[in-house]
Amino acid sequence: MKTIGLLGGMTAESSAEYYRIINQTAREKLGGIHSARSVMFSVDFEEIDLLMEAGKWDEIRDILIEAARAIERAGADFLVICTNTMHKLVPDIQKKINIPILNIIDATAEQIKIRELQTIGLLGTRFTMEENFYRQRLEQEHGLKVLIPSEPDIRTVHRIIVEELAIGEIHETSKQTYWEIMGRLADQGAEGIILGCTEIPLLVKQEEGNIPLFDTTTIHARAAVDYALSG
Ligand code: GLU
Repeated sequence: MKTIGLLGGMTAESSAEYYRIINQTAREKLGGIHSARSVMFSVDFEEIDLLMEAGKWDEIRDILIEAARAIERAGADFLVICTNTMHKLVPDIQKKINIPILNIIDATAEQIKIRELQTIGLLGTRFTMEENFYRQRLEQEHGLKVLIPSEPDIRTVHRIIVEELAIGEIHETSKQTYWEIMGRLADQGAEGIILGCTEIPLLVKQEEGNIPLFDTTTIHARAAVDYALSG
């Protein structure tokens, strides 16, 4: 079994989910009392969040490269960055380490393609929804058509992530708001929705609605175990 390297803390709420899902999946696949070999480096998200809101991506990049190198030194065979937003920096981080990064965007696209969906709605932080790094990869590398919410809906989705989900607050009203926003994307033609922020699956669940949801936390965590167990 390969050792999974986890770059966590973004946020701690979802990193705990990664750890839980990875070990549960390892036990499911291997039986007995098996768990996954892993190492996690968890950053202080307050620092990252302030830099993100200030647009200081160079400073974030340096912090994440240092963390990724520490994970490599600790014996990880590959790296899982436990957040969608920070995949913006994957090309820079990959250049500075010798182990591969298991990309959350690719892992999610694979699941969408298995379901044979073509038009997909994307929820996430405003960076993930508005910038090119996420959408372009889905569209250019995987041939998907990506829909994002309207400008006011983008602000709402982002606000609920940073003000509530990031600190473990789950509110019924926010859940309803998310379902309304997902409904509007479905009306525009989305055949499924990417929960493209690793805290969103704590708020909305597949059993609450009919449109297929792609839970990036579970998809990424399970892909990590598959990769760890592959030849
Ligand atoms: N975990 C989030 C993601 O997957 C980012 C958290 C945040 O910005 O509050 O993008």
